[in-house]
Amino acid sequence: MKLTMLGAGREVGKSAIMIESDKKIVMDYGMKINDPSDLETRQPAYPIEKEVNAAIISHAHLDHCGGLPALFRKKKMPAFMTDVSLELTSMLIKDSIKIAQRNKYTLPFGKHELKRMIESTKFVNYREKFVASGFSCELFNAGHIPGSSGIMLRKENKEIFYTGDIQTLESNLLTSCMLPKKADILIMESTYAFKNHPERKKEIKKFKESVEECIASGTQALIPVFAVGRSQEMIMMLEEYADIIALDGMAKLACEIVSNYSAKIKDAKRFRRVLDKVKIIKDKDERQHAMMKFPIIVATSGMLTGGPTVHYLRHIKDNPDNKVIFSGFLIPGTPGRKLMETGSFDNGEEKYKVKCRVEQFDLSAHTDRKGLFKIIEDLKPKTVVAVHGDNCEAFAKDIEKEFYIEAIAPRNGETIRL
Ligand SMILES: [Zn+2]
Repeated sequence: MKLTMLGAGREVGKSAIMIESDKKIVMDYGMKINDPSDLETRQPAYPIEKEVNAAIISHAHLDHCGGLPALFRKKKMPAFMTDVSLELTSMLIKDSIKIAQRNKYTLPFGKHELKRMIESTKFVNYREKFVASGFSCELFNAGHIPGSSGIMLRKENKEIFYTGDIQTLESNLLTSCMLPKKADILIMESTYAFKNHPERKKEIKKFKESVEECIASGTQALIPVFAVGRSQEMIMMLEEYADIIALDGMAKLACEIVSNYSAKIKDAKRFRRVLDKVKIIKDKDERQHAMMKFPIIVATSGMLTGGPTVHYLRHIKDNPDNKVIFSGFLIPGTPGRKLMETGSFDNGEEKYKVKCRVEQFDLSAHTDRKGLFKIIEDLKPKTVVAVHGDNCEAFAKDIEKEFYIEAIAPRNGETIRL
């Protein structure tokens, strides 16, 4: 068997890992959003193209699913994922088609390919065994976002497990990940390969205290979020303040979708209750009202690349007692990261100094170095393939030293024998 990195080799973005026996299967087929503040490089990047016979998608984040329709340009083939992953993936891809039209760049697919992709997708549940491209396959709850999965492929007496994005701790919204008993080859995300998160309970407490400061002083907290996963987690985390939260942007639809898939979240009734209390912003007038009245605004996009967060920021930026509160990692080069680093907003279209406070908390949906090492300990693989990280090579070296097993960090385009 062979593994070829089509994307996410020594980088975060456009995850796509091809496994080849007599037939080819790809796990994830994402896209990489280039620096959105630079108009010249707005065009997203996609995996290296190869003909494959089937695809399995780990979860509905664009860097894992955003390129999938491109595989349906020439022919139909089966794709596999959880039910909620398909609905969220379709939502995100429809939006990326709209954004491309607005910004006048071309994507390697259109609505027609998206339709084909949806028609060709088969739903699979966690722990349900299925066959794809001659591989015996199984999905395991990854605890990262609703519907997220680790993927097990079995063939030729070998077990290959791909973590996708994974969280070993439970959150307000989700249970922690489930792992198979063992794997021969472990393909592992490395987002936080060199960082341990602060203790989650303490970090949540600090985060809430910061929000409470705004509530007490009659100012506003703008919390930029990813539509999928983070917006649901955020309203659950701030459950007791649900009736003073305004929810805006694609987060609204993502929350509605997630609430329909009760089996994929920890407490669906509780989530529905919270969502019913939150103020869903429906139009410009309501947005204007929310800007004046609501102490907590949860809106997309998470990195301030666009969406209603940008409107809210413009409104709250001049009062030094208002806050922008980021709840996790900010990708270098994004307007969110730049704001954190420089105190100025710049998305290529507008640029201004932000006088309100800007804070960042570490409430990640990814496991950390300790958690990644624990996964290796539990699965006892013979080989680890480190992917989806900024420093996969150094991480692979550390794994070799720690566990005395083979660990590699293939480049994009590189093929290795399994
Ligand atoms: Zn993800």
